[in-house]
Amino acid sequence: SVARVYQDACEKRPQEYWDYEQCVMIDWGKISNYEVIKKIGRGKYSEVFKGKSVLNDIPCVIKVLKPVKMKKIYRELKVLTNLTGGPNIIGLLDIVQDPGSKIPALIFEEVKNVDFRTLYPSFTLSDTQFYFTQLLTALDYCHSMGIMHRDVKPQNVMIDPNERKLRLIDWGLAEFYHPGVDYNIRVASRYHKGPELLVSLNQYDYSLDLWAVGCMIAAIVFKKEPFFKGSTNADQLVKIAKVLGTQELFYYLKHYGLDLPAEYNDIMKNYERKPWSYFANDKTPLAVDEIIDLIDHLLRYDHQERLTAKEAMEHKFFKKDFS
Ligand code: ATP
Repeated sequence: SVARVYQDACEKRPQEYWDYEQCVMIDWGKISNYEVIKKIGRGKYSEVFKGKSVLNDIPCVIKVLKPVKMKKIYRELKVLTNLTGGPNIIGLLDIVQDPGSKIPALIFEEVKNVDFRTLYPSFTLSDTQFYFTQLLTALDYCHSMGIMHRDVKPQNVMIDPNERKLRLIDWGLAEFYHPGVDYNIRVASRYHKGPELLVSLNQYDYSLDLWAVGCMIAAIVFKKEPFFKGSTNADQLVKIAKVLGTQELFYYLKHYGLDLPAEYNDIMKNYERKPWSYFANDKTPLAVDEIIDLIDHLLRYDHQERLTAKEAMEHKFFKKDFS
């Protein structure tokens, strides 16, 4: 299957836009222009530091990549240079290289992020409208540029509530979309993996990112973080089926000519679809009809049925005044 939108976003641009294996020209900055202040994070693929530019004292974030395949490094660099400057996309300020190891480090604008575990529980409906409009704007932009993020999750959405600023970070798993291509299903982190990844449907597209947005909104609205908490990748699909139903999962598989992978034989049972109202109670004041309808149109097995980022922004939830 092919994406419902932006199918030709890459093809209509020159090859050097999307072909990250060819002609990689990097305009290296000087590593001596930056000073490390302290370590702020350690990911699977990097070590991240708070730092500053010694030229102007402007704070920054320094992401030192771990020695992985050069191809993956080129991909992240290509994606970032294509997208930087776009709405709510983390700003890439410079690319430098450690003279010894030759390992690249990416210099980003700093976001004074408040951890989502503290921030999200404080959200009102109007905060939720505001920040998800910002996130959907970033996603519609990268999708329109032919790029799927493939790792949307709270940890990759930096929010500075004082400045009401949101930035989508970590483009390390992002990939260029080309219609008809088979993609690696080992992307995203477990709780935000779309059903397509869990049933090995390789021809997925931008709509993968909208599943993750649906998971994030459902977690906030129903006060259940994460909303689908699988203990393994296979259990992740079981957790999804307990909400969306097993019959509905089989309709999805049939529509794409797939069988349920063998690893589910012993663990997938027949679960009835649960109505969204099942998750609402007197401790979930955000669970109004409009946002439940939005969740319902994002958390669909069939990736082609999910709202696109642009359609989601046009949803009635975002049109209503909750203030
Ligand atoms: P992971 O393995 O978790 O996906 P990663 O190695 O791909 O991580 P990033 O996700 O880019 O690296 O960054 C790791 C962490 O560093 C983030 O979760 C965030 O807490 C912090 N961080 C990264 N960039 C910024 C930024 N621009 N401003 C503030 N904090 C940041």
